[in-house]
Amino acid sequence: MPTASQLLAKVRAALRAGFAVMTDEMLLDMREAFAAHGISTAAQLRVGIDLRSVVDHAAVSYARERAAELIRDFAKTTPEMMRATVARALEEGWSAGRLRDVLRSNYGFSPARALSISRTELARSRRAGGQFGAEKAGAQSKHWDIGDDEESCAECQNNAAEGWIPLDADFPSGDDPHPNCTCSISYSMDSPTSGDDADRDEDEAA
Ligand SMILES: [Zn+2]
Repeated sequence: MPTASQLLAKVRAALRAGFAVMTDEMLLDMREAFAAHGISTAAQLRVGIDLRSVVDHAAVSYARERAAELIRDFAKTTPEMMRATVARALEEGWSAGRLRDVLRSNYGFSPARALSISRTELARSRRAGGQFGAEKAGAQSKHWDIGDDEESCAECQNNAAEGWIPLDADFPSGDDPHPNCTCSISYSMDSPTSGDDADRDEDEAA
């Protein structure tokens, strides 16, 4: 009869390996989202140089580093969430297989969690790629654009309320305010103080 911590360690290792597979699968999507948005942002700012290879290169590092970060976060937060379930499994004498299945569907890879993670990460990759492309293109300012279903989101409204801010400034709620955030960022070659919003539609990149 294994102790709770032995059992938990075993299940944790299995879930962690499974999560690594999931982030591996997401890696390419994250990389593509970063690269595509970085390249289109630079192109819309109409810089004469082709930034494709620079952005592609950054996209590879971005996806790799972000996946490693996700796996670290998962390893840190998930065991706490699993503890109660493991305690119950011991009490009721579940098989290791049953325990693993329950943990997997509740904490690891439920379709809802997987969808939420990939939605969040793709939007995040797009914003990171856009910021990178805008920096390389020499953009001066940026603007938070509220996503389709975010009209009532206070954190994102705070970001949008800032108007055009310097490219290297931080939005009040950050670049990644909350899970499932669908907002995006526009960039402009104009400095934040030059002219009003109506004047800059031409070199705006969505
Ligand atoms: Zn929001």
